[in-house]
Amino acid sequence: MIERDENGYKIESQLAQIGSIAEPKTGAVNFPIYHATAYRHPRLGQSTGFDYTRTKNPTRSVLEDAAALLERGDAGFACSSGMAALQTVFALFSQGDHLIVSLDLYGGTYRLLERIMKRFGVDASYVDTNDIEAMEAVRTPATKAVVIETPTNPLMMITDVEAVAKWAKSHNLLTIVDNTLLTPFFQRPIEQGADIVVHSATKYLGGHNDVLAGLIVTKGKELSEEIAFLHNSIGATLSPTDAYQLMRGMKTLAIRMERHEYNATRLAVWLRDHESVDAVYYPALEDHPGYEIQQSQSSGNTGIFSFRLKDARYVEPILRHIRLIAFAESLGGVESLMTYPAVQTHADIPQEIREAIGVDDRLLRFSVGIEHIDDLIADLDQALSKAKAEIAELDSVSVDAKEPAAEGKGV
Ligand SMILES: *Cc1c(COP(=O)(O)O)cnc(C)c1O
Repeated sequence: MIERDENGYKIESQLAQIGSIAEPKTGAVNFPIYHATAYRHPRLGQSTGFDYTRTKNPTRSVLEDAAALLERGDAGFACSSGMAALQTVFALFSQGDHLIVSLDLYGGTYRLLERIMKRFGVDASYVDTNDIEAMEAVRTPATKAVVIETPTNPLMMITDVEAVAKWAKSHNLLTIVDNTLLTPFFQRPIEQGADIVVHSATKYLGGHNDVLAGLIVTKGKELSEEIAFLHNSIGATLSPTDAYQLMRGMKTLAIRMERHEYNATRLAVWLRDHESVDAVYYPALEDHPGYEIQQSQSSGNTGIFSFRLKDARYVEPILRHIRLIAFAESLGGVESLMTYPAVQTHADIPQEIREAIGVDDRLLRFSVGIEHIDDLIADLDQALSKAKAEIAELDSVSVDAKEPAAEGKGV
């Protein structure tokens, strides 16, 4: 396979050229899909480097090398989904081990930890990972790692990766970062001291809502060997066709992220100033509590933010009236999607925990696509206006009927 390309190309060039010089036989400018699951051995005791595709596949290897290069790690591993990547990483831990994990975690990761890892005796404490004292308070001799998402989703809480990694290292803990929301184009946690980076490549890396994939990047020889063993042993590896599809998406990551960030920033400001909106959670805005850390540890901002409406009754009509923006789960694709976290992505997190951190019934998450900003604003504008008119109509009917007007988060 290709040697790691250390000749100093900028990340935009590395992305556009994924796999383009890796096929010397024909010179094909994008790497072919090797469907073969078995590889002929030249003779006893010899191998081409490929034996069986779960262990290593030529197409997947190009993707894995690219992932390691982009995230500045030592080895990359492509998995069949983001959850498969997380499960493979969590298989590092054994019965009795304990993890410190970000609050406001992706719902699927919470479910994996609480409903599966727990059965195998691996426990997790959920704390604000920006609060070293809070982490110190839950740390025990059994603690093995800190698991961070930054920003979190949907509340966009920011963790100082360098500070956490430094603290973790001093206690011999691994630092694991889910970098799905920023991608290596904007944030490279390994450069800030993390040991492992995980991605749901289904999101921005793939970028087109058409491939399910996960990535792991490790730093250090021993850890890379351990993950290689688990990746092959568990076997949740990415198919060669999906590896190709993912690389195709990754080639345009840089220009997509720039447009996602531009559109999201414009929309976040527009919504912040809207009369029906209570709050906007977006770390690119200066009044966001994580603004300074975010701007210092990342070179840009994700295309996702959340906003809280003044009235929960606006949620249903807004989701009914948006036209260009789709009401759908997932994030990170070129198409704009709006999600209702309380009933979709975060339904597996108990209501009291959800509401305590702010994922309530007035919160909407917006994964801003790369459509024209004017069309996105116009779509939101008409949906918000119609929602407001419908609720005003309901209120006036109930006033006319001499009934008390429904208030606040009625329904
Ligand atoms: C979607 C997501 C995952 C899970 O990834 P899948 O590819 O859906 O399995 C994990 N972490 C974050 C932050 C995500 O957004």
